[in-house]
Amino acid sequence: MKLRVKVDYTTYSALKEVEEEYREVLEDALNYGLLNKTTSFTRIKAGIYKTEREKHKDLPSHYIYTACEDASERLDSFEKLRKRGRTYTEKPSVRRVTVHLDDHLLKFNLDRISISTKKGRVFISPIFPKIFWEYYNKGWLIASEARFKLLKGNVVEFFIVFKKDEPKPYEPKGFIPVDLNENSVSVLINSKPVLLETNTKRITLGYEYKRKSITTGRSTKDREVKRKLRNLRERDKKADVRRKLAKLIVKEAYESRSAIILEDLPKRVPEHMVKNMKDSQLRLRIYRSAFSSMKNTIIEKAREFGVPVILVNPSHTSTICPVHETKIVYQPDGGTAPRVGVCEKGRELWHRDVVSLYNLRRRAGDVSPVQLGSKESHDPPIIKPGRWLRAKSLRLIMNEHKMNEMKV
Ligand SMILES: [Zn+2]
Repeated sequence: MKLRVKVDYTTYSALKEVEEEYREVLEDALNYGLLNKTTSFTRIKAGIYKTEREKHKDLPSHYIYTACEDASERLDSFEKLRKRGRTYTEKPSVRRVTVHLDDHLLKFNLDRISISTKKGRVFISPIFPKIFWEYYNKGWLIASEARFKLLKGNVVEFFIVFKKDEPKPYEPKGFIPVDLNENSVSVLINSKPVLLETNTKRITLGYEYKRKSITTGRSTKDREVKRKLRNLRERDKKADVRRKLAKLIVKEAYESRSAIILEDLPKRVPEHMVKNMKDSQLRLRIYRSAFSSMKNTIIEKAREFGVPVILVNPSHTSTICPVHETKIVYQPDGGTAPRVGVCEKGRELWHRDVVSLYNLRRRAGDVSPVQLGSKESHDPPIIKPGRWLRAKSLRLIMNEHKMNEMKV
């Protein structure tokens, strides 16, 4: 964002002095880079810092750093242009100077901006345009790096960079694998699986049915039809559910300092992921809302919280026994429990989603032992959407479930 401020003469001339010396440092830095055939900031800085410091005794030393950075950027883009044959000079020419500032040289407050000069700090009181407040009030932060340029008539032009505050991901102490399915999302928390029902496929089919009944025999251009279709708000409602679920999972990971493990899903719809669906359009729609959009929502939320996400190879995650590494056989016709299979070697029972969770965890490098023959491995707790949509945390849901089990 650009910001122009008219300043008094003293401030302007203090900045003018900085600009002139900055230009000299910048030119020396460019020459050094060209002569030594380098565009590296560190190498340029190492090469010229001492002499520049001698030459510009009163100039705050950080201007030498920022001028070296400036030079490195200019040399980089000059190099790129030269490779494409788009340069007309032997070296990058410094026509206009925009002085680069770092967090030592610039202190940014809402009521005043302060900049280091040869004569100490100067203070500038800006009037921010509406667009500034729009960003600011949406939670964007002002980056510590900014630039200024001097214009005629004692006007300083600032370039302010807004950035979203994204916390740095931490070193994970554990893992939370997440398995996505057409009608549910499963997670493993403290080695305990839980299956959160989403009914995405069912809901998508429901909307499809409603859409058909609205449009059958009528034109989609009809105002009444348009209004009814809009009122379905399928996209909004589904996105809302995804966000809530993503938040529950990410919060759990954040609080236990864990990394989230997800399948690295392909962009195209793999046939086996949405079954019994002849209509390819509809299959794609289900795939998007249950798999790819869900995955993206979790990744986005994780980034917001600084939760690391590990993507692993998705092939055969549900068909290999996590204990014996042999095949798990599911009944071809589905039978009464279509998602439960039998291990070829140990003959123990497994729920498809639980198998995936353990295998995802293993693929991310966690080799914690897997409990053999526990009830959860073939009969994991299933939480209805009505329950988890209202829940504050996944841990609470699981504790509640355990209490209920004990009562029974
Ligand atoms: Zn087994």
